[in-house]
Amino acid sequence: MDIQASRKTKFIFITGGVLSSLGKGLAAASIGALLESRGMTVTFQKLDPYINVDPGTMNPFQHGEVYVTDDGAETDLDMGHYERYTKAVMGRINNYTSGRIYYSVIMKERRGEYLGGTVQMIPHITDEIKRSVMQLDGMADVAIVEIGGTVGDIEGLPFIEAIRQLRGDLGRDYSLFIHLTLVPFIKTAGEIKTKPTQHSVKELLAAGIQPDILICRTETPLDAGVKKKIALFCNIEAEAVFTAVDVDNIYELPLRLHEEGADHRILQKLGIWTGAPNIAPWQDLVRRSKSPSRSVTIGITGKYVELKEAYKSLHEALIHGGLACDAKVHLRYIAADDLEGGGSVNELADCDGILVPGGFGSRGTEGKIRAIQHARESKVPFFGICLGMQLAVVEFARNVAGLEGADSVELNPATAHPVIYLMKEWFDFRSGRTETRDERSDMGGTLRLGAYPCVLQANSLAHAAYAQSEISERHRHRYEFNTLYRERLEQAGMVISGSSPDGSLVEIVELGGHPWFLGCQFHPEFKSKPMLPHPLFRAFIAAALAHQL
Ligand code: GLN
Repeated sequence: MDIQASRKTKFIFITGGVLSSLGKGLAAASIGALLESRGMTVTFQKLDPYINVDPGTMNPFQHGEVYVTDDGAETDLDMGHYERYTKAVMGRINNYTSGRIYYSVIMKERRGEYLGGTVQMIPHITDEIKRSVMQLDGMADVAIVEIGGTVGDIEGLPFIEAIRQLRGDLGRDYSLFIHLTLVPFIKTAGEIKTKPTQHSVKELLAAGIQPDILICRTETPLDAGVKKKIALFCNIEAEAVFTAVDVDNIYELPLRLHEEGADHRILQKLGIWTGAPNIAPWQDLVRRSKSPSRSVTIGITGKYVELKEAYKSLHEALIHGGLACDAKVHLRYIAADDLEGGGSVNELADCDGILVPGGFGSRGTEGKIRAIQHARESKVPFFGICLGMQLAVVEFARNVAGLEGADSVELNPATAHPVIYLMKEWFDFRSGRTETRDERSDMGGTLRLGAYPCVLQANSLAHAAYAQSEISERHRHRYEFNTLYRERLEQAGMVISGSSPDGSLVEIVELGGHPWFLGCQFHPEFKSKPMLPHPLFRAFIAAALAHQL
């Protein structure tokens, strides 16, 4: 395949070795942040080797959070890191899985586009990958492409082969290979071990890739001697070996990499000249996060308490809300199952704020409803997101509006009062026409996904938080507030403070007579950044702080 590169964009390919969860996504995001701090524009792509077409149907236990982009793609949670650390806007073209690549090749084969040829891993699959990567060409000064998984994984081989070929197509000035590995400290030997790194680089070399830069994940900084040894065995200069030391605060990572000169080296290798970086905002952020003057405890009543990755963006957004209020946020995950039946709400009693996050399925929902009832009655600040908002409506309908047995049809299809129901049709401003839900389509195809506009009512908590009347937020849900019950619930004291511009979709609910009780149908956590905390999270944390007094 002939690559017609624009010669505007330089590509950085990031691979990982030894084991997964080394923080490749954070390293990629941090490099992006450092390049932006030098006045460059960046974009990203994540290539995930698994066969699912996207993570939308995957269990959060397996995959962690499904991150939703403005254009409605269900993507890997690394997209969240990319957007939080930089100004880059992610979408459908920024995340590909093997499944999506294979699917596209197979569809082309079925349409006869290969003109009777034998369809093969090389060149057909690899060309499809290269085409996907090259979509980023011209979109930014630098495109950072992260290959998921670990070098040597069978599933990842076509991606490795594709980027090997791209090195030849793009040339040295336009491509750079960064390999992230682990340099463990072995307690019994009292020593740092470089062998896993050597092996992982060998594995890359066997695939035809010589890394230009190594980033070694370690517990303690590596001294010059160790870097020299790694350099010798891995065929690179000692000055191209960097360490990514474990940090308490993930927003320190850009600063740590900068202190070692990683950004300088990357630019040098790519032949890019820029002015001095402006890292003051990152220094300021880290300084503020280290010495907050107050602290709050937020109780999160969710299904996946054991697995924080499932609530990645939520967790970050709460921290950002704390940063905006000069407060440290302690998160207390409370298993919703434990609150079911007669379970005690003691664990909630000393929380300064209660949050019920999004979710699917009925497990734990009665427990979440109890948490919401406690927040409403005890006047503890409450924030309900997506399912959390829907359950707040159910709780209010049952316990305040007197609608006995009210429920969401997702949880009880036979409910007498379907206050949350399955919408069959809605107006999609993007296509400019009424969309109809196709009941026969597969699981992944029936969600309202991506950014939708929402109009805010004056004199509401939402309006006070955003300080504007029209907002855009990201959605990922199947069920909606049933407007047949709108009047009844409003009469009982519920405030509809946000709705779609045509008024047909309820997006935000609040309660009168409560210091801060807000549920939103969208996921605000996807748009919060450390430098730009989301207004709702800032307002929620401020309300939790006020509740302490
Ligand atoms: N399960 C609910 C729905 O599909 C809520 C989804 C969510 O919280 N993301 O509407």
